[in-house]
This record gives sequence, structure tokens and C-alpha cells, in this order.
Amino acid sequence: MQLYSTNNLSSRVSFKDAVFNSMPQDKGLYMPVTIPRLDDKFLNNLDQYTLPEIAFHVAKHLIGDDIPDADLKAIVYDAISFLAPVVKLEENIYVLELWHGPSLAFKDFGARFMSRVMSYFLEKGEKQLNVLVATSGDTGGAVALGFLGVPDTRVTILYPKDKVSEVQELQLTTNGQNIRAVEIDGTFDDCQALVKQAFTDNELNEKFRLTSANSINIARLIPQTFYYFNAYAQLLKQGVSKIIFSVPSGNFGNIGAGLLAWKMGLPVEHFIAATNVNDTVPEYLKSGVYQPKPSIATLSNAMDVGDPSNWVRIADLFKDDMGDLKDLVTGYRYDDEETLAAIKFINDDYNYVACPHTAIAWQALRDWQQDNYKPDKAGVFLSTAHPCKFPDVFPKNIAVKIDVPEQVEELEKKKKQATALGKDFEGFKRYLLEKG
Ligand SMILES: *Cc1c(COP(=O)(O)O)cnc(C)c1O
Repeated sequence: MQLYSTNNLSSRVSFKDAVFNSMPQDKGLYMPVTIPRLDDKFLNNLDQYTLPEIAFHVAKHLIGDDIPDADLKAIVYDAISFLAPVVKLEENIYVLELWHGPSLAFKDFGARFMSRVMSYFLEKGEKQLNVLVATSGDTGGAVALGFLGVPDTRVTILYPKDKVSEVQELQLTTNGQNIRAVEIDGTFDDCQALVKQAFTDNELNEKFRLTSANSINIARLIPQTFYYFNAYAQLLKQGVSKIIFSVPSGNFGNIGAGLLAWKMGLPVEHFIAATNVNDTVPEYLKSGVYQPKPSIATLSNAMDVGDPSNWVRIADLFKDDMGDLKDLVTGYRYDDEETLAAIKFINDDYNYVACPHTAIAWQALRDWQQDNYKPDKAGVFLSTAHPCKFPDVFPKNIAVKIDVPEQVEELEKKKKQATALGKDFEGFKRYLLEKG
């Protein structure tokens, strides 16, 4: 697999290089030079394969010879060790539950696959890999649990004090082993600034092999294509073959992976980009003007992104004809009041509890179906996290219905372990140098 930077179409790097340096020097993002179209025999018979089988087939065609088949298979089967079921809620409305992994959010797909790929590419005798990651909530948990126990890696997670939910904080701070948490007296932006500065610090780079685990890494994007193919497979089994996906979007990695799957031949009829009031992309799809904005805090906080990083990847996929993109993708945006109304509606109508991000995707699907009703098309909205991760969002009568998974009950018995630091770089640097 060769990759280029979206800012320099003639540049070339290997998969390994793109994995260890998430972002090209020119600040573009890596994209595969060739996006293979999967054969019709595979696509027409998807319903005969399991999720790990599909994942291996897709990964093998994208990654090619960079990882031999037997090794790639081992990585995929170890990483994708949980299901992504499609559940029917009513005629033509299905939910794709992506939160059956260890951190209870879809980011487990990306983080688990990336951690194993990184560990695979580390050569014998090389320095241990020091992964730095800033999180506003879900990324940290997925990365922590994704790297937990992975040999020759050490992960440092920075999170803003008092700004993540209780379950999220426990997922970050109770792991031990090769995972440590740093609680920063500041905002998510402060955490991110500290990580960025660490990457440019000569002394730290000499002493450690630093790498980032952020969402723009190509090894996080690839595994997110797997569940689109697998969702299609599950619907084929039920005799449904015309599908629309509605994706709750923030940094646009998830829907970007869906569009990549479509490019590889997955016959999706339409995509919906569902956002909260951070609506840069829905606005672009309407007006043709891409106008990034400062992010606004909402109830669906994992989507509070005013300038989605993965957008350049989507623009790159459609660089030959942005008109195709507008035909394939429709944007919708909702404020917090509408999000709460959607949560209540889903509870009342289906007796189902959806997290705020998921509820936005459901509402967008409903609105799209109202505007474009086609009785033979099934809508699938992606459920990106388990509702127990956002307990404060729900009214009491709904909150009491959320069943708390066993792994969360286990977490609640453990003790939080985090180092408290200020937002100054010198303090953080001293911590890294002392603790190794
Ligand atoms: C990260 C996240 C999103 C947004 O996904 P992107 O790939 O950034 O668009 C949506 N919902 C939840 C629960 C998330 O954690």
C-alpha cells in the first residue's frame, strides 16, 4: 500500500510510515494511492461472511503486501473481537450498534486495529513506542483499552479535569500496566496543545520514540470501513439490499470510512451527515462554501468540531467531481433541544435508549425519509456510543432504563489513578522526562 498527502498528490510513503507519522509534514492527510474495487463475487455474497472474515478481506485488499496475510489475519481477528449488530426498530429503520467493544464506543474499531498494527511494525530492539493522546472523552478510553497490554508500547493520556463523564474518566484512569493518565487543569484544547508541543520538542524526541494516536491516523480509518460492509451483509440476510446510512459526525472519520467503503464497491444508495450545531459540513453541502468555525459546546460533545480534520479526505475522494459528493451525501444539523426531543421520541416509540450522538443520526434519517420517501430503501443510523457514557444528558425516567454493562460495574470498583498537572508545558515535559 502506498499513500500520498492530500496536499501533494505526487508524494509517496509506505503504510508503516503513514502509521507512525499520522500527519504529513505538509499538513495534508494520507490517502491510499489505489482504492481497489472489491470483486462482485465478494460483494454479492457478503451475507455469507462473518465480521472478522469481511474485515480481513477488506483490509487485505487495501493494505496489500505491507503485512503478510497470516499476520494481517491475526491482527484483524484480535482487534475485531466483538460484534456490530444491526437491530430493526421499525419498517425501514435500523440501528447499527457500534458500541459492543471494550470502551463502549465505535472508536474501539480504530484504536484496537491501530494499536496492533503499530506494535506489529515495531522492530526488534527498537525503542519502546511512546503514544501521546489528548482526549475530550471517547478517544482516550478507546486508545487506553486498545493499547492495554500491547507489548513495547506506553500510552500517556491527557484529559481535561472535570470535563469528561464519570464512566469516561474511569476508563482512562483505572488501567495501570502500560497506560497512564494525566489530569490537566485546563480544557481539551490545552491538552491538545501540550501534546502538539511535545512532538516538536527536541529533547523529548531524542529521548523517546513519540507517536500520536489521534483520529487522523490512516490505521484508524481503515477498520471503520469494516462495519459498513458487515451492516450491509446483515441486511442482505433479511432480504434488504438498498441502504442509506445516517452517520453522527464530528471529525468526519466515521462517515469518511463509509465513503471509502462505497468507493470500494459497497452499493450504498445514500449517506446522511448528521451533526449538532457545529454544522460546517451541512452548510458546505448546501452552499458550496466551506467555512470553518470555532467549536460550540453541545450535549453531543464528541461531535463538537468546527473544522473537521477528516473533511480533506472526503474532498480528496471526490476531487474529480464534487457534484458526485453532493448527490451522494445530504447534511442535517440539530440543536440540543432537538437532540433531547429525539432521545425522548426514540424512547417512547421504540423503547430504546440512544446516546445524544446516535439520536441526532436517527432524527436526520427520519427527516431524510420524509423528504425522499422510497419504500424500498432501508435506513440505517449508526449508534456510536452506549448511553451509559453520557448519564447527565437524560431525563430521569429514561436514565433509569439504561442498563449498565458489566464492564462498567467492574470499573466502578476500581480506584482512579491520575497525575494532576497544570497546563504549562514545562511541567508536562518534566513529568515525561522523570517518569520515562
Ligand atoms: C467520536 C465520536 C463521534 C464522531 O465521530 P467522527 O468520526 O469524529 O465524525 C460521534 N459519536 C461518538 C459517540 C463519538 O465518540
